[in-house]
Amino acid sequence: MTPIDLPETPYFLLTPGPLTTTASVKRKMLADACTWDDDYNGVVQQVRARLVALATAKPGYTSVLMQGSGTACVEAVIGSAIPADGKLVVLANGVYGSRIAEIASYLNIPLHLIDAGETELPDLAALETLLQTDPGITHVAVVHCETTTGMLNPIAAVGALAKAAGKTFIVDAMSSFGGIEMDVAELEIDFLISSANKCIQGVPGFGFVIARIEAMLETEGRARSLSLDLYSQWKCMEENNGKWRFTSPTHVVRAFAQALNELDEEGGVAARALRYRENHRVLVEGMRGLGFETLLDDTVMSPIITSFYSPTDDEYSFKQFYDLLKARGFVIYPGKVSAADCFRVGNIGNVMPEDIQQLIEAVEQCCYWRSSVQAAAV
Ligand SMILES: *Cc1c(COP(=O)(O)O)cnc(C)c1O
Repeated sequence: MTPIDLPETPYFLLTPGPLTTTASVKRKMLADACTWDDDYNGVVQQVRARLVALATAKPGYTSVLMQGSGTACVEAVIGSAIPADGKLVVLANGVYGSRIAEIASYLNIPLHLIDAGETELPDLAALETLLQTDPGITHVAVVHCETTTGMLNPIAAVGALAKAAGKTFIVDAMSSFGGIEMDVAELEIDFLISSANKCIQGVPGFGFVIARIEAMLETEGRARSLSLDLYSQWKCMEENNGKWRFTSPTHVVRAFAQALNELDEEGGVAARALRYRENHRVLVEGMRGLGFETLLDDTVMSPIITSFYSPTDDEYSFKQFYDLLKARGFVIYPGKVSAADCFRVGNIGNVMPEDIQQLIEAVEQCCYWRSSVQAAAV
């Protein structure tokens, strides 16, 4: 397979989104659609129903789409779900968990932050104690795949504690939904947040929320922002057959509907999860074979994105390594951990295990700081 399916896509995007999409997904964006039109709004309604079906087979769930990047959707949920007299607990172990807390502080929402640093699992004992000692807590939020490192957080265990204490449970499953099997009903998630340009393999432009209908109904009148009012957006889509309140990202939505078709054709989330796991296995084995070490233990790594320690050689610079790989058709991602010098490689998107194998061969040729490679003249 060639890495390039359209001439203007010169490399594989091995990043956590936007990621490499198929030509057929991109082609859907070549038609303009009217945001008021029944056909277009029918596409929106289908997308909403299919997202719910991906999340659970149980009744009682709904979905809503929201313009903007994934963070806008997180902000819509945090700003709309928590009542004026509510209080949020955030379990953080990376940038995206910390961002939820940052959103809450922008919105003046009372908050407990349980911060585990960047390479440790969330402190469940601390959560349990907090839930027992502060009856004012109403909501608990956690990130599923913490894209900062690639760590997969134990959302079932967090949800069980939140639910035993009668709290509303919010999960940022941005980089995992569609790529890792999960059932929102079994996990007792009240609000699950993801976006178009992650594991569903669409292009950037909107996020979406899958919510328990009862929990969504409770958000009426709570929003702290007009354009990020989750309830009003949901109500408008419900009552007007898929109409968005403000200009909808029509091209992106049509591409996303195609991406959902292609997810089905691949065999659904189970099949996609298998491919991502295989990508991840080939990546980690290949990189270890070249002498690179992963930041995290195998037990907590996600099959979505992987952090590798940067080489300690004086000659190494991420920029130079990046440029050499880019010239060979692969774009990787800088690290985001403050305590360790790392780079990251994503394995989601329209990327196959054989492409990852080619990446490993390219990496071997690009270790310019190694004397063996210098001799071969990169
Ligand atoms: C990508 C991502 C987001 C959203 O990021 P945007 O840049 O706003 O799209 C949020 N949380 C996690 C875990 C992510 O991976």
